[in-house]
Amino acid sequence: MADLEFDAERRRGAAFKSNKFWLIILCGIVVISAIAAHQIGQVQSSHAFVYQDGVLIETVNLAAITKTYLIVLIEDEDVGIINGGYNVVQVDSGQIRMVGANCPDMTCVLQGWKSGGITPIVCLPNRVIITFEGGGSGVDAVVG
Ligand SMILES: [Zn+2]
Repeated sequence: MADLEFDAERRRGAAFKSNKFWLIILCGIVVISAIAAHQIGQVQSSHAFVYQDGVLIETVNLAAITKTYLIVLIEDEDVGIINGGYNVVQVDSGQIRMVGANCPDMTCVLQGWKSGGITPIVCLPNRVIITFEGGGSGVDAVVG
């Protein structure tokens, strides 16, 4: 009788461990699915275009970036603005952001990292805009 109870206890324990195991696997699948869905949901563009006062300053192939770097944009007379405005753009693997600026609203910096999409990163006061490949009218609007 004692042995039987012991066996039952052991079986319950094994069953519990087995359930726990599958629960962990299930959680793992849910988490991975969520990450995958999130990634697919984000519109990825391979190229970003950095414009200053309508002039294309730099084309960045986001997909090819392996090391983060900064693009410093300082308004100068060549570009036609002499407000002393500056913007610092940070490029990282697959994403880009405005990391610093001297504009009063800082809206551009607050936009954070972007990896694509139709919404450009815009600094209206300094007339800096970062558009993305496939962003459609954004590029045309700046070029035109
Ligand atoms: Zn700004």
